Amino acid sequence: MRLSRYYIPTLKEDPSDAEVVSHKLLMRAGMIRKVTSGIYNYLPLGLKSLNKVANIVREEMNRAYALEVLMPMVQPGDLWRESGRWDFYGKELLRVSDRHGRDYCLGPTHEEVVTDLVRGEVKSYKQLPINLYQIQTKFRDEIRPRFGLMRGREFVMKDGYSFDKDEAGAEESYRLMFEAYKKVFSRIGLRFRPVQADSGAIGGDFSHEFHVLADTGEDTIAVCQNETCGYAANLEKAKVNAPAGECACKAECPAIEEVATPGKHTVEEVCAFLEISADKLIKTLLFKVDGEPVAALVRGDREVNDVKLRNMMGGNEIEFALEDEVKEWTGAPVGFAGPVGLKVKRIFADHELCASTDWVAGANKADTHIKHLSLGRDCKIEKFADLRVITESDPCPDCGGKIEFTKGIEVGHVFKLGEKYSKKLEATFLDENGKSKPMVMGCYGIGVSRIVASAIEQNNDESGAIFPPSIAPFEVCMISLGGKDEAVNEKAAELYEKLMEMGIDVAYDDRAERPGVKFAEADLIGYPMQLVLGGKGLKSGIIEAKNRKTGEKIELPLEGFAEAFT
Ligand code: ATP
Ligand code: MG
Ligand code: MG
Ligand code: MG
Repeated sequence: MRLSRYYIPTLKEDPSDAEVVSHKLLMRAGMIRKVTSGIYNYLPLGLKSLNKVANIVREEMNRAYALEVLMPMVQPGDLWRESGRWDFYGKELLRVSDRHGRDYCLGPTHEEVVTDLVRGEVKSYKQLPINLYQIQTKFRDEIRPRFGLMRGREFVMKDGYSFDKDEAGAEESYRLMFEAYKKVFSRIGLRFRPVQADSGAIGGDFSHEFHVLADTGEDTIAVCQNETCGYAANLEKAKVNAPAGECACKAECPAIEEVATPGKHTVEEVCAFLEISADKLIKTLLFKVDGEPVAALVRGDREVNDVKLRNMMGGNEIEFALEDEVKEWTGAPVGFAGPVGLKVKRIFADHELCASTDWVAGANKADTHIKHLSLGRDCKIEKFADLRVITESDPCPDCGGKIEFTKGIEVGHVFKLGEKYSKKLEATFLDENGKSKPMVMGCYGIGVSRIVASAIEQNNDESGAIFPPSIAPFEVCMISLGGKDEAVNEKAAELYEKLMEMGIDVAYDDRAERPGVKFAEADLIGYPMQLVLGGKGLKSGIIEAKNRKTGEKIELPLEGFAEAFT
């Protein structure tokens, strides 16, 4: 591609709303443009990179026996009612109605639609396993869209779903996807780590996330330093036993006394508020999974003026319900919520009162607060509060080795769903003995557009992005410094044509710009290699190759250059 015919509206300054480096550079390099909050245009360069990520994902999915489909983005509300998620999913689900007043939503994920597709066709164990995936635009009405492509409202995801006849099959499907994900991120060339994870609003038995390691990551992951061990977990998931007799809250949360106000609320009061039995309360708080009701504990401004527990539905719901309700209850935008983990921290990190109090961080800490709340009142809850979030001074739960925290960007997530959706939506099949059984499912997501951003988060310098060659908008940029010297321009054009014929994804900067501008833009966009031809070089038969990552420049003979190019 000749850049004189291309559209790369670069910016000299960082956009004022861009906080992280990928957002700044994607904007400055003319790869994306904001349409409205969390919604972007992909310009030619940005789309090229996005498509490269998608193609790598596609190839590895196909290799692992997953089949590409395309499902609709607009989904009928009735399907979501069948699964129960119409009520549970919360405000991230953008709901619309058509001219007849029927409900629809914009798909944030596709468990309902894909299960409906498969239940209509698959009748026998002989048709299983099946694994279907798509690469498609998702919509989630995120409470705080930010960081450009890292947390959009509209974004591109690869989502896949496996259907098996039994547990063993489902585990094999999960394993295949897990391995395929490792290949995807290795091929792209990212430093990444699979970690144990919470299954969140999607629900299910167990799950792993894939994190790109970068300081700007929103998630904290606990990693065992013993290389042979391999333990790594998202802090939302990483829990250890609290030593007997030691209160898990006290061990790590200085604010607890303030919050707990022992004696202020009895378990009976709490249960009456929730309209559940004490037994249910304990279970709700401690075994919240699968979008089951969870509770939130809220405190008011500085002083504890009130403690309220409320039934809330599903992880995503809480992000919204909490903020709104906290305001409503306390008149102040502060609070603390149960089993939603780090998501809560994200919301409240911006509010003064909670900015410094680490105890808003963990789901299980909510449990321990509840425990504390009821201490001293012959409370049954106490004995359940035996888990707490791991700290860096804890030994590794698997091998006893040293734990270190690091920041990660969640780029992929695999879940073993089990029968959650197949039971609700009655996706059944006849087994070998003619017995009807629900299919055993798994689901697998990759943040295709988030990967473009996280590649930049991990690879950049003061001059701009440093794209891994696999997903760079162009692998090579041929820069002619010829100006009006047609002999130089012709030679550069000739080399560019040859490289293209050889299948190299090369851009040719033939613009009538000053050399300084061309170099700066090439650095900013982050082409892995720049080839520079000037008048002197042409005379002495030399072309310069610059490695964007190392900055290393080497001079190569023009004679036979293209032929020898690798
Ligand atoms: P997060 O914790 O960052 O909100 P999630 O756990 O809600 O992500 P999943 O439901 O696991 O996301 O979706 C699969 C993948 O889609 C994620 O691993 C992530 O890479 C990507 N993704 C999720 N939300 C967004 C978003 N708002 N913008 C861009 N990519 C996203
Ligand atoms: Mg999310
Ligand atoms: Mg997540
Ligand atoms: Mg996830």
